[in-house]
Amino acid sequence: MKNKIWLSSPHLTGEEQKYVTEAFKTNWVAPLGPNVNGLEQDICNYTGAKACSAFSSGTAAIHLALIILEVEEGDEILCSSFTYIAMINPIRYQKAIPVLIDSEKDTWNMNPELLEKAILDRIAKSQKPKAIILVHLYGMPAKMEELMAIANKYDIPVIEDAAEAIGATYKGKAMGTFGVMGVFSFNGNKIITTSGGGALVSDNQNYIKKATFLATQARDDAPHYQHSHIGYNYRMSNILAGIGRGQMEVLDDRVVARRKVFEFYKKELSQFKGITFVEEPKGFYANRWLTTILTDSFKTREKIRLALEKENIESRPLWKPMHLQPVFKEFPAYVDGTSEELFEKGLCLPSGSNLLREDLVRVVKGVKQILK
Ligand SMILES: *Cc1c(COP(=O)(O)O)cnc(C)c1O
Repeated sequence: MKNKIWLSSPHLTGEEQKYVTEAFKTNWVAPLGPNVNGLEQDICNYTGAKACSAFSSGTAAIHLALIILEVEEGDEILCSSFTYIAMINPIRYQKAIPVLIDSEKDTWNMNPELLEKAILDRIAKSQKPKAIILVHLYGMPAKMEELMAIANKYDIPVIEDAAEAIGATYKGKAMGTFGVMGVFSFNGNKIITTSGGGALVSDNQNYIKKATFLATQARDDAPHYQHSHIGYNYRMSNILAGIGRGQMEVLDDRVVARRKVFEFYKKELSQFKGITFVEEPKGFYANRWLTTILTDSFKTREKIRLALEKENIESRPLWKPMHLQPVFKEFPAYVDGTSEELFEKGLCLPSGSNLLREDLVRVVKGVKQILK
């Protein structure tokens, strides 16, 4: 059996070790310490955000962002339907209502027209939505100018789920810095990793202060343990933050490597009729976390996926839209079939920054078997 080619595996440099060793040496083995502070500073410097707090996961960061916006039972939250469930689950932790919005065809992210339609319809039928959460899927920025114009017109705060999009920019500005808060993830499959972890960024220092407070069991400032709020145990470990500091040093290299993977697949596969790639609109800079292809049908997509599986190559269908998930089926959805079609015909190809040229050649060969 040939060696396994993964969709997106961790890519460490070894340099992470120096921060982890320092944590051991100084006995900072806790969910706080110099690496946590250092990683937060690195993320601020990299993205240009004014403040940052590091957490145990991206999901935790999304949950805290909702709590800071005072999202409560029965509130409606507008969100992208074409995303990973980690973005929607925290809405339900708060017993709020996800209102699912379909994608546009250029970037596959939230469709601005459907967003406005949903806002007007919710105001007419129910209530004004409390917040918008939108994703930059597969590291491709959403149409931020259009989306922010609508959010501002109706005065609804935006949380950006940039879990897949650290290193991506829109008109030169980092994803995660357009809304009132932005979320990153450092899960093992992301472009950089701490094995598990996440971060929240904002230009509002008070938001980040409050998130950090809530993430450490909401302990009041007193010599004894005193609490006047419900809190969480969501802080990032100083050991894992050490891995993160090492990974931040190579983030730009990782983006370049992933973009090269995309270019390779495009060069090899775009000649085939029925295979298309998502192009960057002008001013968009994607980190190409995963290279995705659209095929001409569900049948072709499955044939390719199974052929790759036989070659010990991992590929995955695109995210199944949230409005098709049994667990969210009762919630309002403003959809036009776009994400359903993407789910049917789309496939993620192995995209790790650590893939060798021979790995990519093997993937392309596997795909070409079916297309010929
Ligand atoms: C990975 C991911 C998350 C969640 O991050 P975790 O760190 O795994 O909790 C949220 N949203 C999207 C779109 C993701 O891809």
